[in-house]
Amino acid sequence: MQKLQDIVEPLLIWYQINKRELPWRKDKEPYHVWISEIMLQQTRIEAVKSYYTRFMRELPTIEKLASVNEEKLLKLWEGLGYYSRARNLNKAAKMIMEKYDGKMPTTYEQLLHLPGVGEYTAGAIASICYNEKVTAVDGNVLRVISRVIGSKEDVLLLETKRKIEQKLRDIMPTQSGDFNEALMELGECICFPNGAPTCDKCPMNKMCIAYQKNLIEDIPVRIKKLKRKNETKTVLVMITSEEKIAIEKRINQGLLSGLYQLPNAEGDLNENEIKELLKDWGLSVKRISYLKKAKHIFTHVDWEMDCYLVEVESENGKFMWVTKEELVKKYPLPTAFQKVIK
Ligand code: SF4
Repeated sequence: MQKLQDIVEPLLIWYQINKRELPWRKDKEPYHVWISEIMLQQTRIEAVKSYYTRFMRELPTIEKLASVNEEKLLKLWEGLGYYSRARNLNKAAKMIMEKYDGKMPTTYEQLLHLPGVGEYTAGAIASICYNEKVTAVDGNVLRVISRVIGSKEDVLLLETKRKIEQKLRDIMPTQSGDFNEALMELGECICFPNGAPTCDKCPMNKMCIAYQKNLIEDIPVRIKKLKRKNETKTVLVMITSEEKIAIEKRINQGLLSGLYQLPNAEGDLNENEIKELLKDWGLSVKRISYLKKAKHIFTHVDWEMDCYLVEVESENGKFMWVTKEELVKKYPLPTAFQKVIK
């Protein structure tokens, strides 16, 4: 324990000198921290910056977020993926308006009851904004601490996470927000997950067991059990002579629910099968040409897409026919389909 306690001071000093200037770090406003933490789940910091700035311009307050319509919200989220995060933000904002008079809850326990706010996010907001002595342990922190203490326990197990949280609780300083942020920052900027960490720049290198014993390649241990699914799809970019593109709304449940999509069918269809399908949809075809193969990776499934450009005689009632400009401005199209259009 004494050993882990030794990381606190050098880490806090390192953070004060090296922390990056980020749009959401200009103040410790809980709304700002909340939105940035939700955006940063599964997304790189560099990619989040512009989304965050646009989001705050359009929805600068909890009140605005609570009353935004879904179409606009999903459009602001377009490209970030995991759209349930955006919907949960809206639900949580409504709850804050009703239950907390429009002000962010101020304790870890209260934050944890907001839709979409898990232990990590509640810990981050409570410690950064209110200095509550709670942990905020994500993959970065698990990696850093596992390396420092030389732990070969599987970081994908809840049991391992709980042990690390306890160790951190035992050494948590009064500046809990800075300490938690310092660990995350070090995980992102120095103690990289893939490729060599830059240990010579690390403030903890003298006490890090993985570094001292040359175990960096072996730690953290991650034993994966997840089986990935592969799905093949035929995706059609259907376009009229007035350059209107066909889209449709996905059903309101499951993957990418409620977003828009390009017409598509399961499986790898050949041209004749595509023509049959178009006939069933009541469309007369001028020309079909092969566009490309595209791939999109979700959490549990990979989509392999064969994409065709289909020039049609005229619109039908089955789909929505929109201009390219409308598609860009108005309709949230998941990244998987944007790849096709690009
Ligand atoms: S010394 Fe290297 S491996 Fe250890 S915590 Fe620092 S960056 Fe990570």
